[in-house]
Amino acid sequence: MKRGKFLRWWLSGALLGVASLAAQAAEVVVYSARNEQLIKPLFDAYTKQTGVRVKFITDKEGPLLARLKAEGRNTPADLFLTVDAGNLWQAAQEGLLKPVDSKTLQANIPAHLHDPGNVWFGLSVRARTVVYNHNKVKAGELSTYEDLAGPKWKGRLCLRTSQKVYNQSLVAMMIWEHGEAKTEQIVRGWVANLATAPFPDDNRAMEAVAAGECDVTLVNTYYFGRLMEKKPNLPLSIFWPNQNLKNKSAGVHVNVSGAGVAKYTKHEREAIRLLEWLSSPTAQNLFADVNLEYPANPAVKPDARVATWGNFKHNLINVAEAGKLQTRAVMLMDRAGYK
Ligand code: FE
Repeated sequence: MKRGKFLRWWLSGALLGVASLAAQAAEVVVYSARNEQLIKPLFDAYTKQTGVRVKFITDKEGPLLARLKAEGRNTPADLFLTVDAGNLWQAAQEGLLKPVDSKTLQANIPAHLHDPGNVWFGLSVRARTVVYNHNKVKAGELSTYEDLAGPKWKGRLCLRTSQKVYNQSLVAMMIWEHGEAKTEQIVRGWVANLATAPFPDDNRAMEAVAAGECDVTLVNTYYFGRLMEKKPNLPLSIFWPNQNLKNKSAGVHVNVSGAGVAKYTKHEREAIRLLEWLSSPTAQNLFADVNLEYPANPAVKPDARVATWGNFKHNLINVAEAGKLQTRAVMLMDRAGYK
């Protein structure tokens, strides 16, 4: 071998060596639709415990999904983290995630809180429930989501816009439970009962209830928790609907935030390890408590502040249905005049 050729051969070998070292480097890349304030403490704890560094970028789920898609096989992403089963289902549908075969995840996350094909796993539970003005409504007057469509709530209901995935998922689950015709009737009833046009966010809906513009609304509990921490004197209380039913619509509507392994990860084992760790008791509290959510792992107790809202039975329909039926839910809400 000539010297130049040898040098080139040696150099390419050395470079390959560096590249493969990098590939084995203890580092995982996460694309996260959850914000830095929430995930940074979590990943710092993981690094401290395992020595594995976690790099992350945060953005809204839409741009992150578009980026994963555009990068294809060249993506540096190992894990995709977002809120709402509807969004996770979408990522899976677009072939951006790969199934994970893990006994740890199966043991830690209940079957209805992860994808039936194990493509993604719920990591925290968010309950979408009733919040009411306790100066105007007695808890005994409340019963179910469906009841809020009845004439006694005429002019007393506030809702967030149907554009938000949380309401799309809620209505999708109702389609699963009741079928389209009955769900459309219920949604039409809600619309007929609205006191004001739908609000852009859960907070504004609760503020309207507190201000007496309406008496009752539907929100995710962590928004209630945050608002009450800021303004503890608001006349607002939580109610857990659908508790005394025996049929499939029994229980509070829950959704998840969760994660899946990127289809083209180059660090699959590391990605799975991080996902497994996120389902473990240590991480579950870090993950759920910062945002006043419920741990997805039933062995883990919620934060003390969250626990004061009381126990409730939650709906056991697989949250993946929220994704499958989302398009139909969006069309139904449009037909029903729910803006
Ligand atoms: Fe939210």
